[in-house]
This record gives sequence, C-alpha cells and structure tokens, in this order.
Amino acid sequence: KPRLFSGMQPSADSLHAGNYIGALLQWKSLQQDYDAVFCVVDLHAITVPQDPATLREKTRRTAAQYIAAGIDPSASTLYVQSHVPAHAQLAWVLNTITGMGEASRMTQFKDKAAKHGADAASVGLFTYPILQAADVLLYDAEIVPVGEDQRQHIELTRDLAQRFNTRFGETFVVPEVSILKETAKIYDLQNPTAKMSKSGEAENGILWLLDEPNRLVKKIKSAVTDNDGSVHFDPEGKPGVSNLLTLLSVLGGTSIETLEHEFAGRGYGDLKGAVADAVVAEFGPVRERALELLADPAELDRVLAVNADRANEIAEATLARAYDRIGFLPKL
Ligand code: ATP
Ligand code: MG
Repeated sequence: KPRLFSGMQPSADSLHAGNYIGALLQWKSLQQDYDAVFCVVDLHAITVPQDPATLREKTRRTAAQYIAAGIDPSASTLYVQSHVPAHAQLAWVLNTITGMGEASRMTQFKDKAAKHGADAASVGLFTYPILQAADVLLYDAEIVPVGEDQRQHIELTRDLAQRFNTRFGETFVVPEVSILKETAKIYDLQNPTAKMSKSGEAENGILWLLDEPNRLVKKIKSAVTDNDGSVHFDPEGKPGVSNLLTLLSVLGGTSIETLEHEFAGRGYGDLKGAVADAVVAEFGPVRERALELLADPAELDRVLAVNADRANEIAEATLARAYDRIGFLPKL
C-alpha cells in the first residue's frame, strides 16, 4: 500500500469542525487504502507559547480524538511527534537547503506572526514549514491529505525533496497534495471570512468536537449571516450562509445544489436548525468515545508508545539515508 502522512497540532483541548472536515474525515476514508501515518505534532505546537502541563493533556486529547473519529491505531500508525527524534534531526538538514526568501513567503507565518506581534514570533514559528517537510519526507509519504490552508507548505515540501534529490542523489519521495476541493475549508462562525482555527479569537465562532451538544446548537444559532435572507452558496457575497451550507453538505452528504433547492423560500433559522442537527448527530458519538478513551490515560499512553516504536523504525531508516547522502561520517 502507498504511504500517507498527516498530522494536527495539540494546540487546544479540542479539535474543531475544520479539523474534522478538512482532515479527520478524509483520514478515516483513506486509511483503508493507504499505509497511513497520523501524528500529533507537538513539536509544531511549541512554535507558539504553550503551558507545559496543559500541553501534555492536549496531546493526549488530540490523540483520543483521532481514535474517536475513526482512526484505528492497530491498522494505521498513530503517534506523538516528540517520541520520534528523527523529525527534529531531519528538519535541521532541510533548514540548510531552504532559502531565507522562500521561507519568508509562507503566508501562515505572516498571519500567525502578525497575531503574536512580529517581534514576539519565534524562529521556530518561522521554520515551522521546514519541520513539516521533514515530517512528510521521513515516511516516504506519497500523499498528504490536508486542508486548503496547508497547500503552500506541501508545495515547499515538494520543492525541498526535489532539491535534496537533485543535489545529493535520489533520497526522498516527492509527495502529492491531496485536498478535497469544495469541502476543504470551514470558516469561523462569527467571522466567516477567517478560517476556523484552534487559535481563533471568538470562542463562539468555533465548533469544538468536544463541545456539549447544547453549546454547539447555541453557536450555530448565533452564527453571523447577512441581511439578504435567501439561502444561496456564494462564498464571496454570502460567506456566513455559504459556510453553513458547506457544513450541512459535508455532514449530511447532500450536494450544495440540492440544499439550495431544499431551502428555497425558507429563512436562515431553518438552515441553522438543520446544520445544528447534523453537527450534533456527527460530533455527539465522537465526543463520547473520546471521553471514554481519556478516562484511561495509561492505556492511551501504551497505545501511543507501541505506535511510536513503529514510526521510529521507518523514520530512522530515512534519516540514515539522508545523513549518508549528505556526507556525515557514519558512527561505527
Ligand atoms: P492552529 O490555529 O493551532 O494552527 P488549526 O486549527 O489551524 O490550529 P492545525 O493543527 O494547524 O489546526 O491543522 C490540522 C489540520 O486541520 C490540517 O490538515 C489543516 O489543513 C486542517 N484545518 C485546519 N483548519 C481548517 C479549516 N478551517 N477548514 C478545513 N481544514 C482545516
Ligand atoms: Mg494551523
């Protein structure tokens, strides 16, 4: 089976609807056909300030949500990034073949740096995409299913792989980007031109996977729409309504066109009601399973340890190949 790699940051207690739709749903359907590697990328999470005690807990919670959403840790490899030292080691090597100019063009860095204040942004935040390239390349991944917001980073990964291969000889597999076009991006309910994000500002704008059902309903009912009053998909002109239609379409398995017909002549209240039902039906069982898993942290840690051993085996072999090509003296 071809290899697949993807990951999420343990940067909040819960994942959100964007992570679920943009990543987890795809992961779940792809894991049958691929040798899938799913990582909780804690090295990435510390590129912005994290509190040590809560980082540990968020890491467990993120892993539990992967499993609860349907990732099978005995069929796929599901592990924590800091348990596999080769990520940091390969990232260093890739740092040395990345241009300052090309790294400076990464829009996620610009967005996140602006939020934290340009001077407060860490060098780690700047080199984040290079660590991400190392993540993917260590596993010889052929596909990397991510949301639209990660496209630029995967393009960089491809460039770095090709550059290394050209300079030092065939070493890395050059991965494909895999993004589900229409459903790729979910927006903040309160600010529907900004992507829903774990580090988003308005708590009411984020649908957390672990929210209690009545919280989800409240947030959806208070989602920002417009004064036009008709249910149409128009991301430019009607971002709020379009975002609700996307949610309903993906979770209910109905096309946007069908929904536009179904809601013709009906108000936003009806649309929000339908979205709330769909979200609660989808998130409810995932939440319950995640809470069950979190009730036994020792067992969860054991599963993660076994999976990290599997990941280490693959990653160490790739790192050794890269070290050899670059001319490092092997240790006897
Ligand atoms: P942070 O704000 O800490 O960066 P995040 O919400 O962007 O968190 P990540 O851990 O960076 O989440 O990304 C995990 C995965 O979720 C990636 O594949 C990313 O493309 C996807 N993703 C994140 N936000 C969205 C969104 N709003 N819509 C669709 N996919 C998303
Ligand atoms: Mg992100």
